[in-house]
Amino acid sequence: MQDSGHTFQSPLAVAAEAARRVGNHHALLLTDFDGTLADLAPTPDLAFVETGVQAVLEAVAAHPAITLGVVSGRRLEDVSARVSHVAEFVAGLHGLEIDGHGLTFHHGVLESVAPIIERVDREARRLLDWCPGCLIENKEFALTCHVRQAPPYLAQLALETFESLAEPYLETRKLRLLIGAQAMELLPSVDWDKGRAVEWIRTRVSATFGYTVPVIYLGDDRTDEDAFTDLGAGDFAVGVGHRPHTHMIDARLEGPAAVGEFLGEVTRIIGLQS
Ligand SMILES: [Mg+2]
Repeated sequence: MQDSGHTFQSPLAVAAEAARRVGNHHALLLTDFDGTLADLAPTPDLAFVETGVQAVLEAVAAHPAITLGVVSGRRLEDVSARVSHVAEFVAGLHGLEIDGHGLTFHHGVLESVAPIIERVDREARRLLDWCPGCLIENKEFALTCHVRQAPPYLAQLALETFESLAEPYLETRKLRLLIGAQAMELLPSVDWDKGRAVEWIRTRVSATFGYTVPVIYLGDDRTDEDAFTDLGAGDFAVGVGHRPHTHMIDARLEGPAAVGEFLGEVTRIIGLQS
């Protein structure tokens, strides 16, 4: 399908195209959470999946021809609970922790980075307490500074403060900095991202079927681009919203409501094909 710039496509048309790509193979359907299944919320704890979308997720999860996984920057337990534990695979911290099919992946760097995160967390709370609406989120192995709720004239200064206190850890390559929409996140500096998580999950699911299963991946932000760039010709990449680069994706949907429609339709068609 030709991606037409930043115009959004009909969820039904995109579903037909994705299902055609999958053919009669088993499909691995992987999706981001925030901005993809749930609208972006003022603070992370307020994000939720609409009832209609949750019902569709349950139908996808129950479908014998599809394996459902969620790949998020949240902690694994957090994102799993937010989809009512329906996904067979869940990846948290951008893939640094993965659970599914009774298998667990926990990146070896995590334990060594926890004390650093704790130290930066303390410094960040002390140095940013002047900024109303600035939220420091400690994920144990990652630290996020959210400024969505801060007054715009303070938000930039808050992010600059956060970045400057991270500087020594960036220089020594203990941590890396991820710049998001009105947020910055410090993560362990390792060569592991959502793309690697997708391949980890695909390898396990493919082993069950005896062939490389095609992936349908949906995501809205910079970290999802790590997954998009690792997909192959038999896979299908769905960008959500304006952010994902056009050349990386097969189609673009407007937001979580359109994603819900897409998921319902792609499940229906794959069911007919399988
Ligand atoms: Mg997202």
